Amino acid sequence: PTVGVVRETNDGERRVALVPKMVASLIGKGVDVIVESGAGLAALMPDELYKEAGATIGDAWSADVVLKVAAPSADETARLRAGQKLIGFLAPRTNESGIAALAAAGVEAYAVEAIPRISRAQVMDALSSQANVAGYKAVIVAASESTRYFPMLTTAAGTVKPATVLVLGVGVAGLQALATAKRLGGRVTGYDVRPEVADQVRSVGAQWLDLGIDAAGEGGYARQLTEAEQAQQQQALENAIKSFDVVITTALVPGRPAPRLVTAAAVEGMKPGSVIVDLAGETGGNCELTEPGQVAVKHGVTICSPLNLPATMPEHSSELYSKNLYALIELMLDENGAFAPDFDDEVLAAACVTRKETTA
Ligand code: NAD
Repeated sequence: PTVGVVRETNDGERRVALVPKMVASLIGKGVDVIVESGAGLAALMPDELYKEAGATIGDAWSADVVLKVAAPSADETARLRAGQKLIGFLAPRTNESGIAALAAAGVEAYAVEAIPRISRAQVMDALSSQANVAGYKAVIVAASESTRYFPMLTTAAGTVKPATVLVLGVGVAGLQALATAKRLGGRVTGYDVRPEVADQVRSVGAQWLDLGIDAAGEGGYARQLTEAEQAQQQQALENAIKSFDVVITTALVPGRPAPRLVTAAAVEGMKPGSVIVDLAGETGGNCELTEPGQVAVKHGVTICSPLNLPATMPEHSSELYSKNLYALIELMLDENGAFAPDFDDEVLAAACVTRKETTA
C-alpha cells in the first residue's frame, strides 16, 4: 500500500502533512511513501530529505491514502478517485460543500477534527497538537506587539512591574498560552466557562478567574451561553479586563461562531498600549473589535487576530501533525499490512466523514 504527501496550496500554509522523519516509520509498517515534489519545501524539508528517508518523489495524488493538512480545493478534489482515502483538516462542521464534493467523488475521507477526545486517541489528536502551537505563538505575538516588558525587572535604571496577562478560554491553546506567558515572567490569570479547568489553570501557576458561569457541554467542550449568561459574562469581563496589559482569547464552541467575550466598551476600558491577541478570528473573533487576519489599534489598544498560527512554525507543527497522522494510519492497517479500517472502532468510525455505505 502507498500513502501520498501532497503540496499544500492555501495562502500562507507552510506545513506539510508528513515530515521525512516519519517516512521510515511508515516503511517499517510496509507502507510506501510517495511525495509530491516540493511538498515539504515551505517547512524547510526539501525532496532530498524525503528521498534519503526512503520515499519516492512522484505522483502523490495517486496513492491509496492521500495525506493533507488543509481541506482540498475543488481542483484538488477533482484529482481524487473513488475508493481513495484522504486524511486532513477537512472542517466537517463548516465545509459542507467540500465534504459533499468528496462524498460525490466516492472518496473515503477522514477529518482529523472528528477524532474523539478519548485517551486512546490523544496521540492522533491533531486539533490539540496544532492548538498547542497556536497558544504558544499567541503569547510571542503579544510580547512582540507590547510596548511593555512581560517579566518583572529590578535594574539600576529602575524597577519594572510584570505584565498582567489574562487568557480567556482555557482549552489546549489557552493552557499553553498561560504556561508560555508564565515562562516569560507575566502574572497570569485564566478564565473559562468549564469549572473543571480551574485546577489545570492553577497547575501552570496561574490564577483562576471565577465569574460564576458554568457552561460545560458535551464531550469536554463548552456549550453556547444563553443570552442572559452572555450579557452577564460580558459585563463581568468588562470590569475584570481593565487591570490587564495583555488579553489572549481562545474561546470556541464547536460548530458555532466564536462567543463574544470582549466588547468594544471593554477595549475602551483598557490602558492604552495594552494588547489583545484573538485566536478565534477564523470564526469571527472573541472581541467585538477584532478584524480577522489584521493588526488594528482601537482606543489605543493593539488588537491582533492572526490566522493559522501553526503555519508560522511549520517545522514543529508539521512534525507533531505527522505523528498524529502516523498513529491514525497505523490504526487503519490490518494484520497483513493492508488498509482495512475497522469501522467498529469508534475512532475510525467518527473520523471517517464520507464513505461508501455497506449493507450488513
Ligand atoms: P475549544 O478549542 O473547543 O475551546 C477553547 C476553550 O474555550 C474551551 O476550554 C471552552 O470551554 C472555552 N469556551 C467556550 N465558550 C466560552 C465562553 N463563552 N467563555 C469562556 N470560555 C469559553 O477547546 P479545546 O482546546 O479543543 O479543548 C476542549 C476540551 O477537550 C478540553 O477539556 C480539553 O482538555 C479536552 N481535550 C481532551 C483530549 C483527549 O482526551 N484526547 C484531547 C484534547 C483536548
